[in-house]
Amino acid sequence: MTSAETKTCQNCKAPFTIEPDDFSFYEKMAVPAPTFCPQCRMQRRMVFRNERALFKRNCDLCHKPFIGAYRGGTRFPIYCPTCWWGDGWDSRSYAAEYDASRPFLAQWKDLQSRVPRPSMNNYTGATLLNSDYTNCSGELKNCYLIFGCLRDEDCLYSHYLNDSRDCIDVLYGARNEHCYECSDIENCFELSHAQSCLGCRTSAYLFDCRNCSDCIGCVGLRNKQYHILNSAYSKEDYERKKAELKLDTRSGQSSFVKAYQALRDAFPRKYYHGQMNHDFSGDYVANVENTHEVFYTKNARGCKFMFWCTNARDVYDYMSWGDMELSYECISSGANSYRSLFAETSWGENKEVEYSGLCFNSSFLFGCIGLRNKQYCILNRQYSEEEYHALRKTIIEDMKKLPYKDKQGISYPYGEFFPIELSPFPYNDTVAQEYFPMSPAQAAERGFAWGEAERRDYAITMAADAVPDAAADIQDAAVNEVIQCAHDGRCEDQCVTAFKLVPHEIQFYKKYGIPLPTLCHNCRHAVRVAMRNPLKLWNRACQCAGKASEREIYANSATHFHGEGKCPNVFRTSYAPDRPEIVYCEQCYQAEVA
Ligand SMILES: [Zn+2]
Ligand SMILES: [Zn+2]
Ligand SMILES: [Zn+2]
Ligand SMILES: [Zn+2]
Repeated sequence: MTSAETKTCQNCKAPFTIEPDDFSFYEKMAVPAPTFCPQCRMQRRMVFRNERALFKRNCDLCHKPFIGAYRGGTRFPIYCPTCWWGDGWDSRSYAAEYDASRPFLAQWKDLQSRVPRPSMNNYTGATLLNSDYTNCSGELKNCYLIFGCLRDEDCLYSHYLNDSRDCIDVLYGARNEHCYECSDIENCFELSHAQSCLGCRTSAYLFDCRNCSDCIGCVGLRNKQYHILNSAYSKEDYERKKAELKLDTRSGQSSFVKAYQALRDAFPRKYYHGQMNHDFSGDYVANVENTHEVFYTKNARGCKFMFWCTNARDVYDYMSWGDMELSYECISSGANSYRSLFAETSWGENKEVEYSGLCFNSSFLFGCIGLRNKQYCILNRQYSEEEYHALRKTIIEDMKKLPYKDKQGISYPYGEFFPIELSPFPYNDTVAQEYFPMSPAQAAERGFAWGEAERRDYAITMAADAVPDAAADIQDAAVNEVIQCAHDGRCEDQCVTAFKLVPHEIQFYKKYGIPLPTLCHNCRHAVRVAMRNPLKLWNRACQCAGKASEREIYANSATHFHGEGKCPNVFRTSYAPDRPEIVYCEQCYQAEVA
């Protein structure tokens, strides 16, 4: 077995370590070890996915207008979903012959500049009923401005939310109903302003609670009812106190949030979010085994460097959706794919699809774009099985000798994912802007495309500071207002500067006593993303000192396995060492939650 090796990232110049297990994986995939560090690799993949930025333009085939993920003036044609998935064009007509005198990825870029792309990245063949303003989604009914979502009904302004009904402003969750302004929740009902909760009902402002109902402002509770700020009340006292808090007004909410935040700061945090994991490192993970450095990952074995993936086995470096095996350096390329390498947006029964984009139900493709149900193609050109394997081998050798070089002189030999400058999207329209934000000047310095803020001449009828404070004052006529976003485009969060309300949300706010929002849906999403931990891990030790936390900020309520001495446990955690939270290991944390 090869021993661990420390390398310098070509991109950020930081050192990174390749472990013996990683070398075994690269050997199994027949790829060289990476020359970019894990963080730079994740950023690079994310630039190939625009989830949230939507634009109006016309289809380049049928010329009808539609809402899609591309701005006007792209270097490739854009077709509406009906035309792209229809039979009115043939992607093989763009076939190119390989030219050994030029870097392969430069030829791929030429192909990319000619082949039409579908306006949206919605799941193949899945119905979207009355849900036009969505992307990266499938099987929706009456949904609006939701992204990366599957099988939802009546959901608005949500992201990575599956199998849910009547939810507004939820980030990452499954099987929820009537929830509002939450992140990382499952099996919840009428829950608002909650994070990392399972099976909670009719509650608000909860953090890491399970199977609780009628609780407000609680942290780390299990199977509790009628609690406020972790204290128990009788049903009558709970109802009286709840009314006094006036959580149906923004002013009542902002004063209560201070007390809730103080409780959160004083209570220990488990070193990661999730449950049922073995031999793992990461955050927001469930049911993974022998899986490391992963975020938002569920049901994974033998995986590493993942972000937002479910059901994967032996996969390294992946983002978005799942159901895949033995794949490396791909984005949006799951749904029963096997041995996908350096693929973007290529899913559904794919096998050995490599350096390709927008390829579906295909096998043995190299450097192709927009193919469906094809085999043995290179740069969209058809070959025989033998010709394919021989030419693929030649190209791989050529890519090592004559790699593509980006504007900054960074080279991309065989084994590296596509350079950021080959993304079909401007940097700030992609997922990368959410997790690796850049200013226009920083992007320009790196030579990345940037989408200028659109001129939005909204005639604002309600200034942000004129939005009523109380849910009781919401009028049905609010549907006609153009409300100014309180950020007014001054942030870097894809702010749309103003927003309108849809009838369903007005009824929802009135029914559940929720005051109107003062930020646009993109700014609200950015606030939720910022409330979660970063996609990065540090080595730390448990901060339990025996009877209390280190520096005695929190007094333990139970006796721990390590007695009165300091806990010996160490871990990888997304809580950076300079953060204020008290971070406990699993055992110490479990002893404290009740
Ligand atoms: Zn790096
Ligand atoms: Zn905004
Ligand atoms: Zn501990
Ligand atoms: Zn302890």
